Amino acid sequence: MEFGLTDMEKKELLKRYRMLLKVCKPVTDAKDKRLIRKAFNLAAEAHKGMRRRSGEPYIFHPVEVSIIAAGEIGLGTTSIICALLHDVVEDTDYTLEDISGMFGPKVASIIDGLTKIAGIVNNSELGPSLQAENFRKILLTMAEDVRVILIKLADRLHNMRTLEHMPPDKRLKISSETSFLFAPLAHRLGLYAVKSEMEDLVLKYTEPEVFESITKKLIETDEDRRKFIQQFIKPVEDQLRRADLNFTILGRTKSINSIWNKMLKKKIPFEEVYDIFAIRVIINSESENERIDCWKAYSVVTQVYTPNPERLRDWISVPKGNGYEALHTTVMSDAGKWVEIQIRSVRMNEVAEKGYAAHWKYKEDRDGIENSLDDWLKKIRELLQRPEANALDFLDDFKLTLFTDEIFVFTRTGEMRNLPKDSTVIDFAYSIHTGLGNKCIGAKVNHKLVPLNHVLKSGDQVEVLSSEKQAPKEEWLQNAVTAKAKSQIKQAIKEDRRKAIERGREIVLRMFGQVKLSPEDVVLTEFARYTGSLTINELYFEASKGKIDIKTVKSFATVHDRSGWLQYLRKPFLRGKGGAASTNESKKATPRRKTLDLNTDNKISYIIADCCNPIPGDEVVGFVVSENTLEIHRANCSNAIRINARYGDRIKKVQWNSASDIVFKTGIQISGIDKIGILSDISRILSEENQLNISSIYLESKGETFEGKITLFVNDTDHIKNLISQLRKVEGVERVFRMR
Ligand code: MN
Repeated sequence: MEFGLTDMEKKELLKRYRMLLKVCKPVTDAKDKRLIRKAFNLAAEAHKGMRRRSGEPYIFHPVEVSIIAAGEIGLGTTSIICALLHDVVEDTDYTLEDISGMFGPKVASIIDGLTKIAGIVNNSELGPSLQAENFRKILLTMAEDVRVILIKLADRLHNMRTLEHMPPDKRLKISSETSFLFAPLAHRLGLYAVKSEMEDLVLKYTEPEVFESITKKLIETDEDRRKFIQQFIKPVEDQLRRADLNFTILGRTKSINSIWNKMLKKKIPFEEVYDIFAIRVIINSESENERIDCWKAYSVVTQVYTPNPERLRDWISVPKGNGYEALHTTVMSDAGKWVEIQIRSVRMNEVAEKGYAAHWKYKEDRDGIENSLDDWLKKIRELLQRPEANALDFLDDFKLTLFTDEIFVFTRTGEMRNLPKDSTVIDFAYSIHTGLGNKCIGAKVNHKLVPLNHVLKSGDQVEVLSSEKQAPKEEWLQNAVTAKAKSQIKQAIKEDRRKAIERGREIVLRMFGQVKLSPEDVVLTEFARYTGSLTINELYFEASKGKIDIKTVKSFATVHDRSGWLQYLRKPFLRGKGGAASTNESKKATPRRKTLDLNTDNKISYIIADCCNPIPGDEVVGFVVSENTLEIHRANCSNAIRINARYGDRIKKVQWNSASDIVFKTGIQISGIDKIGILSDISRILSEENQLNISSIYLESKGETFEGKITLFVNDTDHIKNLISQLRKVEGVERVFRMR
């Protein structure tokens, strides 16, 4: 091997290449190995002399991506070849024809998809809302062959793993895209390991302190946890063996991101998250026995420990939409702690970890079972191929489809359909057929008559009622959940409006004829304004509803005659330009101007975003909201992440100036045991020791305990951290948090 590498690098490359061969071993024979070698040689040759930002030889990246594709996603030879070559057409002189000649048209077409995506992602000089349109294109390209999505996810995961070498603003942009699009995609495709790692890495770059502190605590508590797990599983192991089951049992620690989410959701410190880990029992059994064996294991486990009957989840009888199958139960341990136990067969476990690819592999011997994932991909393709959908709407609809849990309902003839949670009769009707959706007036659910907006539950049997006179209405959009129903309703309303405008045009032209007005565009525009409509189309639409009468046309004609339309036209038609909103903004922004450092010029003013109220010391980003104004968010603000993913090109990395005597508004949440004198202790710290400016204090007693919120002005994060640690020292105070 040459490829312009040092001896050390050559050694390292060889090591990684051997690793690749090792992880793809189960799916390869000698012929496959030769092809992989050929692809590897081509990639190394093509990327010769190129280096990544980290200084590493570029070829390390495609090798790592193919290790992820083979080892963690379980993809086969074609995909491994594509992963090795994924940046070749994009970054080197080789063309798709070269690839096609060497590896065949299938490999070339997958690489074509990957190259297109790279082109879309990297073109950040595009206008503002094109970012959303880009996502649509990305998804459209990926949906052509599911392997394009899977390799792209491997590529993204490796880029996240090496993100520290990117400049800070790129890090935030890439993290946002990952949390907004790629992690949910991985989740939907059942790739739990990939999804969790992506989310942890996002946390690492958006909330480094949180990430550090949880990591540290996990290490500190590791030993205790291990002991506990050992003691806990001992009796279970004994009984499972006695029941003659072939199994492995292990304890799995939750991802850092999901621990953090739990802490946030339940407002508890790390120490109180009870399900930091779960026990996993994996049963090795023949495919015809796997369900029975899982239930057998369940009965063994619940004989040893008492289960919480409300926490049994049976995803074996009805698998999740992304293919996940398992039994989950929560049992009481001897130490008085709830412990979650997951029971799966070896096959189910592989599907759970490697998702779609594993599904694919087992598909042949499970013929006849409806594959809901294929259905989902089909739905996404349908959605993507509708050119009229507005890119931003589409993103929201799509995200909804990605995130929702599913329900299972049945048609009149007993056919099963899965829909997102909270779906209504409208969603169901559109899922059957667009024509049925458009004409739907209600339904019989379990033989009872219900309205259109009725929310369906798992197990419902639904018969849609329709009428030829029905047409989709604006308010249906509020009652629909699925992307398909929403986009069909929008389209039908648009179509309706188009027809109405056509009718209205005829009405207006007829009335113009009656008073002998010539229907030129300028006159029509003028008449539209005269009636309070903004455009000619809006005028026509109003006319179609009978809101424009001949009297109005006549009186317009009189004005028109008297003054001539030119004079009329010159009248300014302003709609509150420079109104209250803009003065408000500048008022808010001016006093804070000097507290932020921006590398460009100083004429820019700032608005502190209300949603997350950043204060100096927080990681922040700025969004260009107008030419001279930036809106400042905390980097971890959910709004910021959303905007970031859509309008990444409008982001500016901003930094706080260190010295500042300007104060920022923030809030603290506090709770503890309600004892005499505690309020005066707290307020003493707040007022005397820190000389803070407090905006409001609200403390509420709840029996033995109290909860409270304090809104106050501080200089920076050190200030508030210091305050929080002082408050924590007060006797009786249990929890103090900065509000988000
Ligand atoms: Mn790449």
